[in-house]
Amino acid sequence: MTKLKSYLCGEWREGTGEGEALLNPATEEILAYATADGLDRKEALDFARRQGGPALRALSFRQRAELVQRTAALLQKNRDELIGLAMTNGGNTRSDAKFDVDGAIATLQAYAEMGAALGEKRLLADGEAIQLGRTPRLAGQHVLTTRHGVAVHVNAFNFPAWGLAEKAAVALLAGMPVLTKPATSSALVAHRLFELLVEARIWPEGSLSLLMGGAGDLVDHLEGQDCLAFTGGASTAALLRNTQGVVTRGARINVEADSLNAAVLGPDVEADSETYDFFLKDVLRDMTQKAGQKCTAIRRILAPEALCERFRDDLADRLAPVVVGNPATDGVRMGPLATAKQKAAVLDGLSLLARDGRLVHSRPGLKPEGAPEGRGFFVSPSLLEVEPGAEAPSVHSHEVFGPVATIVPYDGSAAQAVELITRGAGGLVSSIYSEDVPFVTDATLGLAPFHGRIFLGSAKIAELSPGPGTVLPQLVHGGPGRAGNGEELGGERGLAFYMQRTAIEGSRPVIDRILKQGGA
Ligand code: NAP
Repeated sequence: MTKLKSYLCGEWREGTGEGEALLNPATEEILAYATADGLDRKEALDFARRQGGPALRALSFRQRAELVQRTAALLQKNRDELIGLAMTNGGNTRSDAKFDVDGAIATLQAYAEMGAALGEKRLLADGEAIQLGRTPRLAGQHVLTTRHGVAVHVNAFNFPAWGLAEKAAVALLAGMPVLTKPATSSALVAHRLFELLVEARIWPEGSLSLLMGGAGDLVDHLEGQDCLAFTGGASTAALLRNTQGVVTRGARINVEADSLNAAVLGPDVEADSETYDFFLKDVLRDMTQKAGQKCTAIRRILAPEALCERFRDDLADRLAPVVVGNPATDGVRMGPLATAKQKAAVLDGLSLLARDGRLVHSRPGLKPEGAPEGRGFFVSPSLLEVEPGAEAPSVHSHEVFGPVATIVPYDGSAAQAVELITRGAGGLVSSIYSEDVPFVTDATLGLAPFHGRIFLGSAKIAELSPGPGTVLPQLVHGGPGRAGNGEELGGERGLAFYMQRTAIEGSRPVIDRILKQGGA
């Protein structure tokens, strides 16, 4: 059986021991093993800092963008193989796997275009020069320069291709070497992607490292110029925030964690209208795409009290025919969860939510299509509903990372929608489906401080929209509070995490000369 190696210090290195088994979550067949036991993480970080950092910083944004573009082309060329691996190791349907792999390619392309537009610069001017004295001679100018550490990326299991690419594209374009640690359970895609990258020799030596297996003492070796970007559970995030590299030496950390994303149907929306249909479709997609294992998926559905019954029946009617099973079987629209641990967590979470309300749709005794009897980490799509005015503490505080959502009735006012949604204590994205501009405005202003993104759903954009669950490279991804208080992507904004903002104060002609030297 294959034991997956790590790519560290410019070579493939094998960990000791058998390691963790990577499974096909639909059949529980073992596909490979991964272990990073015994590998020297400190040496790997030092190598990246010493070799990769200077080589990348010597390149301009345009030159780095060209390498990002070649990386996107490499993924595109090997798209089918990567999609196949995401299906086998991730339990993804073909459509789910495309969402991951194509999302990775699109994000790389977006950053390649952005980098090309930045041209031959190696530093970025942040705003205009500011006059500080009585005459323009004394000036201040903020600039961004690339940090001299390693960008350490710890990723979640649900998007092995996109998760790796969306973080790497930004860090590499900013000029930092990347050490990526995919979640072990679904790491086959990331491993193959690295094999392709190493073979293609696109990036200078030391720019890319892969840790295949447990993180071990990796984060203990972070230094003050390093950046740690983490996606995963809140308890792991808390652990990482408390490591010496972050607390004592000032390594930067960015966290993308849990989120109880909500979608609210405006009081103006009538059943059978185009906006109502758009809302239904988006909720259905978010519940079933990737079996609900999407950080941005809608978990709480706010519907005006008068429309709740109708909405619940319409959604249940659309959930009923969703074929759950082995993604290798024709006609399957929803696959299993990624691991046995995730299945157990979802079932526990469902019991918790059921204390707050009632289960209005689920399929007890579900028989997944094409899966061996009693095998696979399948759960039924499940819809719950709470009573109007119910406290429902778990619904507003416990994220169930699976095909589960809860209908929460509200009185149709923006004030109550905001009050209920913000009980979630900070989220990645919430959505407002309405054509009522005053309602949309009030709800947006009320929700914005608690979210990284607000999605405005209406018939006007229905045809063009990928829905609230799709993270776009042009827009910020992250959120305050429970969501980790982090921020990624957002176009050029994303580069700032990997760069140091410095205020330069002095004579204007000298400042201009410095900017010219850096190509800004
Ligand atoms: P997790 O246990 O926190 O794992 C996430 C990553 O952290 C994995 O790569 C994991 O490696 C690694 N890790 C675990 N312990 C570590 C440690 N002590 N030091 C360094 N790295 C460590 O999360 P999960 O249960 O796999 O992920 C599910 C949760 O992530 C979901 O419930 C969801 O809330 C959240 N999520 C958030 C987003 C977002 O963008 N905000 C996206 C997806 C998921 P191993 O796999 O080797 O253990």
